[in-house]
Amino acid sequence: MPKAQAPTLSISIIIPAYNEAENLEPLQQKLESVLSELPARWEIIFIDDGSSDDTWGKIESLNQINPRIKGIRLSRNFGHQYALFAGLQRATGDAVISMDADLQHPPALLPELFQQWQSGHKVVNTVRLDPDDFSAFKRYTSRLYYRLFSFLSGVPLEPGMADFRLLDRQVVNDILKMREEGLFLRGIVQWVGYKSSKISFQSERRWHGVTKYTPRKMLQFAWHGLSSFSLVPLRIGVLIGFITSGLSFLGILYAIYSKLIIGQAVPGWASSIAIISFLFGVLFILLGVLGEYIGRILIEVRGRPRFLISEHLGLNKSSSPPTSSTGYSTRQPGGMKQRTER
Ligand code: UDP
Ligand code: MG
Repeated sequence: MPKAQAPTLSISIIIPAYNEAENLEPLQQKLESVLSELPARWEIIFIDDGSSDDTWGKIESLNQINPRIKGIRLSRNFGHQYALFAGLQRATGDAVISMDADLQHPPALLPELFQQWQSGHKVVNTVRLDPDDFSAFKRYTSRLYYRLFSFLSGVPLEPGMADFRLLDRQVVNDILKMREEGLFLRGIVQWVGYKSSKISFQSERRWHGVTKYTPRKMLQFAWHGLSSFSLVPLRIGVLIGFITSGLSFLGILYAIYSKLIIGQAVPGWASSIAIISFLFGVLFILLGVLGEYIGRILIEVRGRPRFLISEHLGLNKSSSPPTSSTGYSTRQPGGMKQRTER
């Protein structure tokens, strides 16, 4: 794009932060030095996902120094994906870049993301090359999961795809229309399509603190992803049903044959018990899977807000794009605005 048009462009950087007080200042410094070189107006929105440390205090002091640094505070810890969604809702830029607060996503990559956007890509993904401090377990399970996800859902997801990406305003508005519970943005971004490109990057070590993705959150994230994009786990039951009933039919034919033709009843109490217990095990697993999907339907039907915002800084109501207007705001006694969204 010619340089003369550049100053009219604006970009928003959205950064979910859960107990990341120590990381915000170094990140903001690196970001500002990179952003000041870009031919665009910018804003940084930190989303405090219910931190128990001084993350919100840090965001407030950064906002006082530079009003282009803004903040959203969720009323409790709702999880990374919802924090990202809250950021997408309030971002005003022509493009929105999401990244982590722990400096694992290098700000030095921003000019390249910007450049790819300017050359016409509406989605610029990044693919993380695993850092040395990644355990072999995390590396293999993550790769296996991405392969399984792509195979079951038909939505191609590459191993190492991170929530570090640039989205054009048009794509952001499309994503904001999604009202589903159990958000899995990596899948949704692939699902919406559009012309996209990807950049590989060497992930840095976390600057300060430890990972905020506990094994429980990780499992929940993985299951939400799979179950929002694929019904195959439900259909596995039908497949197993066909296979086992086919085998039992052959077994019955054999039992009749040995009784009538050979004149011998089939022995084998132990083997019958083993088969029955195995099949009961499978049956209960499938019932559990069924229950999980029904539970997701219940949550969806109940229609509770997916997250609540207790405060925001530097953002006014008009900065919210029209697509998120289904949320509502209520004046709290202290004058603080509370906003809920679906
Ligand atoms: N995060 C969040 N809410 C959570 C967990 C994580 O907002 O419940 C944020 C966290 O502060 C970080 C990003 O999501 O900015 C990625 O988390 P983390 O670095 O802990 O994950 P990892 O890189 O270890 O997968
Ligand atoms: Mg991290």
